[in-house]
Formats: sequence, structure tokens, C-alpha cells
Amino acid sequence: MAKKNVRALDVRGRRILIRADLNVPQDDKQAITDDRRIRMFLPTLRDIVERGGRAIVMSHLGRPVGDAKKDAPFTLRPVATRLQELIGRPVKFVAPCEGAEAKQAAMSLKDGEVLLLENLRFNPAETIIDLKKKNPDGKLTPEQDAKREAFATAIAGLGEAYVNDAFGTCHRKHVSMYDVPQKMPAGNRVVGFLVEKELKYLGEALKEPKRPFVAVLGGAKVSDKISVIRALLPKVDQILIGGAMTYTFHAAQGKNVGKSLCERDKLDLAKELIAAGGAKLRLPSDSVCAAELKAGVATKVCGTDIPADLMGLDIGPDTLETYRSIIGKAGTVVWNGPVGAFETQPFEKGTFALAHAIADATSRGTITIIGGGDSAAAIEDAGLAERVSHVSTGGGASLEFLEGKPFATVEILDA
Ligand code: AMP
Repeated sequence: MAKKNVRALDVRGRRILIRADLNVPQDDKQAITDDRRIRMFLPTLRDIVERGGRAIVMSHLGRPVGDAKKDAPFTLRPVATRLQELIGRPVKFVAPCEGAEAKQAAMSLKDGEVLLLENLRFNPAETIIDLKKKNPDGKLTPEQDAKREAFATAIAGLGEAYVNDAFGTCHRKHVSMYDVPQKMPAGNRVVGFLVEKELKYLGEALKEPKRPFVAVLGGAKVSDKISVIRALLPKVDQILIGGAMTYTFHAAQGKNVGKSLCERDKLDLAKELIAAGGAKLRLPSDSVCAAELKAGVATKVCGTDIPADLMGLDIGPDTLETYRSIIGKAGTVVWNGPVGAFETQPFEKGTFALAHAIADATSRGTITIIGGGDSAAAIEDAGLAERVSHVSTGGGASLEFLEGKPFATVEILDA
């Protein structure tokens, strides 16, 4: 069901808590190396401040644990600076994200002003829900639950309305995603433009795909992609497999995979998926192989049997031609996961060639959706982000959406 959008929220003179996903990659000097997640959030922030709202922005950054949380890599301070440059108005910053100072900073905001709270995950309560599965009864202990509740109350107390624009975190029932919005009065819990756009593209692709509907799934492990393969099989016309998980499938077919990555304990599962997939599930017919995964090593193209001293590191030219042709005729393409070890040259070729094939198909009217993470990085690196229909900001979130899992964090928002 469509959710109430921020554009329908009364924001003038009100303190609007906005959960964004500003978890951007940084280099070892804390310089932001890719600000896409910040840029994608600007339409929502602009809408709020230009209509006289008082924006209280919150996010996590990385996974601070224990004493690591005191380290620089996890502070959102550099994000405040970049956000200020991009939005073109001052961005105040307060640390920690809760307590007297945060309250004071929030309460003294004027219409059109922006405040960024320090990393939510500096308070372990933000992610305490993740401990549930580690407890013997699968529930939070009363003490853990009290921490969750106290943090939710503290954060919710800063604002008068709540906007979820953190697509990349929608699959996690963390305090700022799930508990805070439930403390807001009905009618004041809405989605931002980014979440709306992501759900629209992914949702429409799954519900009424323009056919043929083709999924390209790469990456390292079959085990990570089982649920998505299972969920997509009844919906798609073809699934094109690439990446290291190829070799788990090939081994399951009794082929020699040499030194390739292969999950030996998942062969039965791979057999089951091959049987369920039938002609819909396509495996590579050749691979670019090498003796080791190292930049600049000598390579050799092998068929589906790989010699004992080599490993498969990218899809081969035959596979590329087949996949290119299928993508060229597709009505909808969803892509998740690189089809080779694309961070290391010369094993980036298959992934980049597919990125080009997907961009070219888009120019001819194919709906193309890039499901976050490494595939989004590959599309960006190839300079093709503007030439596909949609690049998701959430790897894990888009994968869970494709698996057909509803987001509890979105369901609780107002319709
Ligand atoms: P995932 O996180 O499962 O999407 O996997 C992405 C990772 O798989 C990337 O770091 C790729 O370098 C790696 N990868 C893809 N294909 C291969 C391959 N044939 N051999 C080794 N690593 C691979």
C-alpha cells in the first residue's frame, strides 16, 4: 500500500525527525569517497527546509562496537560538512545524538534550519534488537528491552513528526527505524522521496514487470542468494548466474571447478535450485581463469571444466555474448552482484561489459534496476549511473525486497 509522503506532511515551524542513511564510504583520512547517499537524500531535506520545517537529521555510520566507537571513522561530523555544501545552508551538528545538548540543539532550531545528530550507533541501544536472535528464547531480555525503550523515547522526544528516508536500512528494525516512528502521533509518520522512489521501482518491477523479466545475480556465495533465487524463479523469465557462486552450481553438476571458490556444503542446495529453475536458470558456459586472484596475472578462458591449478574469476566471452543478447531483448532487468572478482584487473571485464549492456538496453526502453552494493559501485565506476532506470542505495535492503520480505519499518508508517 502507498505510504503517506513527506510532501503531504505539515512541516512549517515543526521539528521534523528525518531518518536518513548517510552511511557513506570514507578513505583512511575520513574523506568521503562517494557521497551518493547524501545526494539522494537532498530532495527530502530540501522539501522540508524550503517549506519552513526544522530538520533534525539522524543516521548511522558503519558499525561502531565497544571502544571502536570513540574512533574517528565513525563520526558523522564530515557528513555534516558535506551535507552543508550540498544543501547550501548551514548544518548544525550535535554529539551525542541524545541527552541535554541534543535536546537544546533541537529545541532552538528555527524554521528552515538543519541539525545533524551524531552517529545513532554510538548508543548500542540503536541496534540492540539484533541481539534477540542470540538470546536462548529469541527475545530481548527485560534489561535490553528497557534500553531500547529509553533510547526510543529520548530520540522521539526531539521531534514532532517522523520521516523515513533511509532506504538502505529499511530491512533493519533498529530503534530509529522502527520504535521512534511508533512514538509519533498518527498522521506524522511518513516516507521521504528516496524511500518512495526505491519502493516504486522495486515494487513495480516485481508486480507488473515488462517482459521478458531477467534477473542477473552474481556475487560470491550461493548461500547469500538462495532466498532471492527461490523468490524470483516464479516471477522471472530468466535468471543469469555469474560470480563465484557459479562454481558451487558447476560442482553440483559434477564439473571440475579447480581452485575456484566453491561452497562444498551447499551442493545439495545448488542441485535443488538447478532442478527447480530448469531452463530459467542459466549458468555460465565459460570462465576467465587464473592461477590466483592477483592484479595483472596471466589468464586463460576455460569451458565448464576448470583445470586443478586454476580458478574461475570472471565470466568468459561466450557467456558474455549469451547474457548480452538476453539482456538486449529484456523488458525488465534487475541486477544484483558482480559476475567476477571485479575489484581486481583483469577480472572486471565481464561485470563492466554487462553494465554497458544494461545501460544500452535502457536506451532502448528496458526498465533496468541495479540492486545496490557492489553492482551499484560497478555502475558508478563505469560512469553509467545516469544511463539506467534506477540504482538502489541499499544492497541488503534491495535484496530483501526482491526476496519478497515486506519491510516492517515501512509498514508501520501512515498510509
Ligand atoms: P557478494 O557480496 O556476495 O555480492 O559478492 C561480491 C564479491 O564477490 C566481490 O567482492 C567480488 O570480487 C567477488 N567475486 C565475484 N566473482 C568472483 C569469483 N569468480 N571469484 C572470487 N570472487 C568473486
